[in-house]
Amino acid sequence: MLIDTIRRSPNGVSRVELVEATGLSPQTISNIVRRMIDARMIVEGERLRDGGMGKPRTLLRLDPTGAYAVGVHLDPRVMTFVLLNLHGHVIRHMSRATPTAAAPDDVLAQVHEAVRSLVDDAGIERTRLTGIGFASPGPIDVERGIVLDPPHLPGWRNVPLRDQLTRLTGLPVLLDKDVVAAAVGERWAGASLGYRTSVFLYLGTGIGTGVVVDDYVVRGVSGNAGDIGHLMVAPDGPPCSCGARGCVGVTLSPAGIVSQAVAAGVLPETSGSEDPALADAALNRLSALAAGGNPTALEVLRTSAGFLARTAKTLVNLVDTEILVLGGPTWTLLAPYWLDEVSNLVREGLVRGDLGALTVAGTALGEDVGAIGAASLVLDHAFTPRPTAFVLN
Ligand SMILES: [Zn+2]
Repeated sequence: MLIDTIRRSPNGVSRVELVEATGLSPQTISNIVRRMIDARMIVEGERLRDGGMGKPRTLLRLDPTGAYAVGVHLDPRVMTFVLLNLHGHVIRHMSRATPTAAAPDDVLAQVHEAVRSLVDDAGIERTRLTGIGFASPGPIDVERGIVLDPPHLPGWRNVPLRDQLTRLTGLPVLLDKDVVAAAVGERWAGASLGYRTSVFLYLGTGIGTGVVVDDYVVRGVSGNAGDIGHLMVAPDGPPCSCGARGCVGVTLSPAGIVSQAVAAGVLPETSGSEDPALADAALNRLSALAAGGNPTALEVLRTSAGFLARTAKTLVNLVDTEILVLGGPTWTLLAPYWLDEVSNLVREGLVRGDLGALTVAGTALGEDVGAIGAASLVLDHAFTPRPTAFVLN
């Protein structure tokens, strides 16, 4: 990630250092740097001599106003939009409810409209816009830019999202899986900034994970890595679409947690575990009861923290990670009751023992994490040499 390397060097970085950091050839780095200078994305600064007689090194810095990217995160409940500058700072932010009954075409028309108003409000030159990064629930076809059939997005089946959104906006579009984008966003600007190996655990309508190992974002063969929804956490838990019981996806969905609260008698039977909007409202009610000190509500949340910790332990030990970051709408709501409990349980279950510290943290980017990640992927792709180059137009 070339831009990332320059961005992380506030005092500037030389071409030689970029060669060392990226493993690319001096010629490739020189070509990319030339293109970026021409595109006004980086500026040359001081020239440094290393004492000897060699050629002085010229320090390169990003011009934050040199390029921007839009990030969109489509969650089944909420759409989040950000406009990111080259420093990775959010210039504009917007969110709106995902229309539940609308056809994908109508949703994409709304996305187009939202992107346009985001860019207009910021008053940036349209030519400075590198593209749109779109984070979608999986499964997706990354190569062809198609949303296949995410379980929580009814009506979305084989939607050629990349081509359709490119046609609407006239901008290059990059489609990636939501949890992959979130892991990238957290690494780019959030809690896992500076960590080479990290696990991001997303808790929303669906549950998934994004993994970065030695600075390499794990996408898998098809770009759909991180689907952990069927890890079993509760042997007597609710039935799952896969035929098993107590999979983490159904157990820790808003509806799943609400069911536990209903069974414990702290929420009324009518709280509704079928309707997502009702389940969200009931989860807010449960959180409010816990905030008021209701012992049964607190006990329900302690139990669910245990289920979450089982999944988290598996992931932490599988990857042998330095940091676990938790985020997503459900996490944001319940973090006050979950963070310490999950953190303690995961540490107790750490197979490597004291052979390396583990940081457990909540997201530093809130609901923007997926959108920030998607936008940062666009900025990085624009200047990453690869056979199917994503061209800056
Ligand atoms: Zn299952």
